[in-house]
Amino acid sequence: MDVYAELGIRTLINAVGPATRLGGLALSDEVIEAMRAAGSRNVRMDELQEAAGAEIAALIGAPAAYVTNGAAAALSLATAVCLAGDRPAAIDNLPVVSGPRRRVIIHRAHRDPYDHAVTAVGAELVEIGYPSSTRPDELARELDERVAAVLWRPGRGGDHLGIAEVSELAHRAGVPVLVDAALDVPPLDRLAALFDGGADLVAISGGKVFRGPQTAGILCGRPDLIGAVALHHQDMDIRPQTWQRSEVTGSNLERGRHGIGRGMKVGREQIIGLLVAVRAFVRDPDAHRRHGREELAAIRAALAADPRCVVRDEYDHHLDVPVIEIDLSRSGLPTDEVVRELDRGAPRIHVGEDLAWRNVLVVNPMGLGVGDGAALAARLIEVLDNGGATADDAADKAAEGSEAGR
Ligand SMILES: *Cc1c(COP(=O)(O)O)cnc(C)c1O
Repeated sequence: MDVYAELGIRTLINAVGPATRLGGLALSDEVIEAMRAAGSRNVRMDELQEAAGAEIAALIGAPAAYVTNGAAAALSLATAVCLAGDRPAAIDNLPVVSGPRRRVIIHRAHRDPYDHAVTAVGAELVEIGYPSSTRPDELARELDERVAAVLWRPGRGGDHLGIAEVSELAHRAGVPVLVDAALDVPPLDRLAALFDGGADLVAISGGKVFRGPQTAGILCGRPDLIGAVALHHQDMDIRPQTWQRSEVTGSNLERGRHGIGRGMKVGREQIIGLLVAVRAFVRDPDAHRRHGREELAAIRAALAADPRCVVRDEYDHHLDVPVIEIDLSRSGLPTDEVVRELDRGAPRIHVGEDLAWRNVLVVNPMGLGVGDGAALAARLIEVLDNGGATADDAADKAAEGSEAGR
C-alpha cells in the first residue's frame, strides 16, 4: 500500500540527512516491527517510561533517562523542572513562574532557533559574552538568585567556556546546567564527557544518529531532576482514590493536574521504537558512518568526469558522518535554481542547501537508500544539461508574478 501516492503526495530522495522538515530518516524494519507490536497493546505509561528510561540510561551511560517526543521537547521539560521542580502549585502555574528563579543563562554564541523550547515554558533567556569569546566572570556575575539554569551547547566555534568551567561556576551558585546535545550525541563518548564535565541534564534527539522515530528524544541526567519530569509531562487524568504505585519502581508521585508538557505527549510506539533503535545503535555504533557509503561512492564516480561539478569529501563533525560537497561554480547555473529543479523533477530530490549561496550542494548519506546515489547524480547531470529551468519552471514563475501583481 502506497499511503503517500494515495494522497497524491510525491516521495523524495533525502540527501539532506535527519531533517525534520522531510520527516527525518527511514526507520529500520526492526524498529518498525517493534512499534507495530507496541501499538497493539495497552500499558500504564508511567510504568513504560520508568522501564524504558532505566534501560536507555544503562545503554547510553546516563544516571537516569526519560523519553520525550524530541530533543526540543526534552529542553522544554528540562527547563520546566528547573523552574518548578516537583512542586504541584508551581507546576500548575507554568508558564508563569512561581519563585524568583526564572532566568536561564546562555552564551550569546550559543543562541539557536531551538531557544524557543526554553522560553516557551516561561523562562527568560539572559545572554553572556560575545559571539567570538566569553569569559568566566561574565557568567559568574549573572549567577544570582534569579537564575534557574544555565543552558550550554557543544560543538560551537570560538573562545567560550567549556562544560567543566560552566558547571563549576553554576554549581557553586546551586544552579543546574542543561545541555542541548541534540546534534552532537551520539557518539556516546561525547555524552560521557558532558557528564564528566558536570552537566545535570542533557537533551538528545532520537531521530538523528540514533535513527529512532522522528518524534522521539531523550532527556537524561540527574535522577532527582529526571524523576520530576513525569509530573510536568504525563497525563494526570487519574483518581488519587484508586491510583496505585508503579509496579516497576514502586513510586507514587504526588500528582497535580496536567503540567505544561502535556501537549508534548509521547506514544508507546515512540518509546518502544526509540528503545529498539538505541539498542541497535549500541550493538553497532559505526553503522551510521557506513550507511550510504556506497551511495556517496556512486555519486563521486558518476560526477568525476563532469567538469561542471567539483566533488569534495568532507565530514560533518556534529553528526560524525562523512558527507560530500558538490561545487557547481563552474556550471554557470544559479545553484538555487538547481535546488528548486531537483525538488520539482522526477525523481524528487532534496539536497543540503545551506551552502548554496556559495554554489555548493551538500550530500549527507544518512537518509539515502540503495540506488539513491546513482539516481541523484543522473538527475543532477540532467538538470545541468537542461540549463536549469524547464517549461514547468517558467510557467510557475509566471504564476508567481501574476499573484504578486494582485
Ligand atoms: C535537531 C536539534 C534540536 C531538536 O531536536 P528534535 O529531536 O528534532 O526535537 C534541538 N537542538 C539542536 C541544536 C538541534 O540540532
